[in-house]
Amino acid sequence: MPDKTDRKEQIWLTLFLLVPVLILVRLSDIFAESNTGKFFFAGLFGAIGGLLGFGLYHFVKASSFLKKSITLTILLLVSISILYLVSESKKSNLLTCEVCGYKSINSKDSICQVCETKPWERFKNWKAFEVKRDYIEYNQLLFFGIDSLNQKIDFYSPQTIKTFDKDNNWKPILTAEKIREDFLLE
Ligand SMILES: [Zn+2]
Repeated sequence: MPDKTDRKEQIWLTLFLLVPVLILVRLSDIFAESNTGKFFFAGLFGAIGGLLGFGLYHFVKASSFLKKSITLTILLLVSISILYLVSESKKSNLLTCEVCGYKSINSKDSICQVCETKPWERFKNWKAFEVKRDYIEYNQLLFFGIDSLNQKIDFYSPQTIKTFDKDNNWKPILTAEKIREDFLLE
């Protein structure tokens, strides 16, 4: 029955393509900040994953079900390992945001990926804030602001947001008293 065999092979090929493509495409989130960049990297890593899967499929095409399954499992594990290792190594290079205290800034000139504060260097000539300290404090009020006086203020919680960890060596300029004062003024 050639039809049934064909369909089976199509399923195998689809699996060999989908597994690496779907996992490696996620690398684009790690590499790019802008949507254009993400689009580019998603295409690039998707293509690499596709080639890898396609090549492997042809390598084991004539093999038994067991050998194909093992190869597919290895492909899955290798893809996940690549994603994990790349994201871990990228994480260790992140800078701590002075505003929110998360290790969430790619480079000196990038926007924080947690509180979305822009680098002070872009504002220092605008005269809106006299000194950097005022700029940091203003943004901390936005980020740590409360909705009611009963709300608990904890600068170190949660420990992780969107995979970004808090740097426990970081210290806020803002105090809990100042946040409450600010709330009462509003
Ligand atoms: Zn931040």
